[in-house]
Amino acid sequence: MIRRLAILGAAGDLSARYLLPAVARLQAQGQLPAGFAILGIARQPGSDEAFRRQMAERLARHAADLDPAARAAVIGMLRYRQADVSDAEQMAAALQPLDDEALLAYLALPPSVYAPAMRSLSAAGLPAGSRLVIEKPFGQDLASAQALNRLIAEQFGEAAVFRIDHFLGMQTVQNLLGLRFANRVFETLWRAAHVARIEITWEETLALEGRAGYYDASGALLDMIQNHLLQLMCLVAMEVPLSLSARDLRDRKLDVLRAVRRFTPEEVDRYTLRARYGAGRIGARAVPAYAQEPGVDPRRNTETFSQVTCFIDNWRWTGVPFILRTGKALARDRQEIAIHFRPVPHLAFEENEATPNVLRLLLAQERVTLNLNVLGAGDRFYLQEAVLDSPLAESPLPAYSRLLLDALRGDCTLAIRCDEAEEAWRIIEPITRAWQAGRAPLREYPAGSAGPA
Ligand code: NAP
Repeated sequence: MIRRLAILGAAGDLSARYLLPAVARLQAQGQLPAGFAILGIARQPGSDEAFRRQMAERLARHAADLDPAARAAVIGMLRYRQADVSDAEQMAAALQPLDDEALLAYLALPPSVYAPAMRSLSAAGLPAGSRLVIEKPFGQDLASAQALNRLIAEQFGEAAVFRIDHFLGMQTVQNLLGLRFANRVFETLWRAAHVARIEITWEETLALEGRAGYYDASGALLDMIQNHLLQLMCLVAMEVPLSLSARDLRDRKLDVLRAVRRFTPEEVDRYTLRARYGAGRIGARAVPAYAQEPGVDPRRNTETFSQVTCFIDNWRWTGVPFILRTGKALARDRQEIAIHFRPVPHLAFEENEATPNVLRLLLAQERVTLNLNVLGAGDRFYLQEAVLDSPLAESPLPAYSRLLLDALRGDCTLAIRCDEAEEAWRIIEPITRAWQAGRAPLREYPAGSAGPA
C-alpha cells in the first residue's frame, strides 16, 4: 500500500472539502499505514506551518464529526511546497520532501492543468509503483479526452492511473450490484419485456453557491450527466458480469456505453432538455436568477437543469427510455434510480386499477423501496398500495475515502477505464454540438420550482 500522498492543487476546494476529510476518516478507522505522509502543492506562497494552520481550520469545518485526535494526526502528516505544477523544474523541486517511496499524486487541479502537470510529473521521474488520480472532468470533449489518454499511455501506463467518479464510491450505488446480481427475483424482469422506463434523477435545492468559476464553463450536462449519471446507467443496464473483477465489471459497463444511441440533431431536439433557473424562493431563501449570480456570463447560456433520454440499442433494452435528469435550485432534493415496471398484461380485478410496480433506490437516504398492489381492507377485491421500504447497509466509508483507499491499494475496480471515458464523450458530444447550433433551446424555470415543464 502506498504511504506517500502528493495533493497537486492542495489549496483548492476539493482538497479541503473532500480529500483531507477522506484521509482523516481513513486515519480514524485505522486504515492508513504507519508513516503515512502528505505533501500539498499549489502556487500560493506558504510554509508547512501556515498550511497546517489553514488546513486544521478547514478540516474542523468539513470533518467536524471526526475524533479531534484523528484530525490532529492528519494535520501532523502535512507538508507544503509552492510550485507551478506545469513547470517541470518547479514540480521536481516540490517533490523533494518525499523520499524514494512510491507515491500517489492526486491531481486536484483545474482541468486545463492536468496535461501539463502529468508531463511535469513524468519529467520528475516518479518512484516505481507510483500512481495518479485524476478528477473529473476528464477532457472537455472527445478529442481532449483522447489526447489525455494518449499522454497517460505514453508516460505512465493505464494501470497507474485512476480516473475518479466519486458516485461509484457511494455504498448505495455499489449496492446496485448486490441487488441485481445476488437476487434471483430481479434478473428475469430486468429487461425491456417488463420494464417501461428507467429514471435516474439527481435534483438538488442547492443553487450555484459561489461556484460560478467552475460551473458556468460546465453546466448540468457536463457536470453531472456526462460522467456520474452515465455511470449509474451503466450499473443499472449492464449484463451480468462473470466476476466483480475490475476487468469484467468495466467490460460490461463499456458494452452499455457502446450501445447507447448517438443522437442526430433532430433527436437532440426530441430527447434532450436544457434550462436555467430564474429568480425564486427555496423555502425561506430568496435565490437570484442564475444569470445574475456573481461570476456568471449570461451569454454562455449555461444550463442548470438538463435531461437526456438515452436508448440502449441491445437485445435487453431496445425501446426502453433511460431518462437521466439533473438540476439545481429545485424545490426538493431527490436523488434516486427508479425502475418503472410495465403494468400487468391483464387485470382480473374490476374495482380499481393496479399501480405499476416501481423499484426505487434512494441514493442519499441509502434505502430501497418497492410498491406492491395488495388487497385493501374494505371491499373484497379492492386494491391498495403497500410499500416495501428497507434501509441498505450504511456506508462503512464515505465515497472519497473508499476511492482514495482503493487508489492507495492499487484496486482499480471503481475507477473509470480509458475506453469508458472516451465512450461517454461519444454519447455527449452530439448533444453539445447540437446545443451550440441552437437545438433544444434553453428554457427557464423559477428557482424553488420542480424544474421546467
Ligand atoms: P479550485 O478550488 O480552483 O482549486 C484548484 C487548486 O489548484 C488550487 O489550489 C490552485 O491553487 C491550484 N492550481 C491551479 N493551477 C495550478 C498550477 N499551475 N500549479 C499548482 N497549483 C495550481 O478547484 P477545486 O474545486 O478544488 O477542483 C479541483 C479539481 O477537482 C477540478 O478538476 C474539479 O473539476 C474537480 N472536482 C471538484 C469538486 C469540488 O466539489 N470542488 C468535485 C468534483 C470534482 P493556486 O492558484 O494557489 O495555485
